[in-house]
Amino acid sequence: MKATDRARYQYPWALALAKMKARACTISQIVNTTEAEARALYKEANHGKSSPSGQQPVDIAWYTLTPERRFQSALLLVMYERACRSYPPGLALTHAYYHFSCITSGEWEDPYGTAFRDSEKDYQLNFARANYLVKIYDDQKDLYGARKSQLQLVKCRVCGTIILSQSDDADHRCPICIKSKDKPKKAE
Ligand SMILES: [Zn+2]
Repeated sequence: MKATDRARYQYPWALALAKMKARACTISQIVNTTEAEARALYKEANHGKSSPSGQQPVDIAWYTLTPERRFQSALLLVMYERACRSYPPGLALTHAYYHFSCITSGEWEDPYGTAFRDSEKDYQLNFARANYLVKIYDDQKDLYGARKSQLQLVKCRVCGTIILSQSDDADHRCPICIKSKDKPKKAE
């Protein structure tokens, strides 16, 4: 593909990434532009606001700390895995994250929220965290049969919902089933 054609093909992807508040450094990696170009594009897509900076996520435990994070992380990983069948990894994440954000927007205060929100804080699982999650999540095993990642997708053994779990977590029940077990049963 010629450079000009590539730029034309990548532009809508870069724009969508900027509107989903992916940071300029991540946009430049995914669509293969310079960071300066990604910064300019971020501003263009976000009414002159600059790309957020700051430390990239490094905390694996974050993803399993609350029921919402366990559900949302699992949903994103499943959608990403599907998208990888049709797209290279960076574009697969962009595609999956767009649809993931549309699905989860109903959980936020604005019932008409979309994948494009005002700030990184408007996402339970922001793009930087999503990007880190798909990078560290690895289902493959090493030569000795040990899993490479501490995170794994498991099915709740009561209702079958897929949730994200730490590999040393022996109780494979989703947070809803754990809660409902504690409730007294209704009289018949
Ligand atoms: Zn369950």
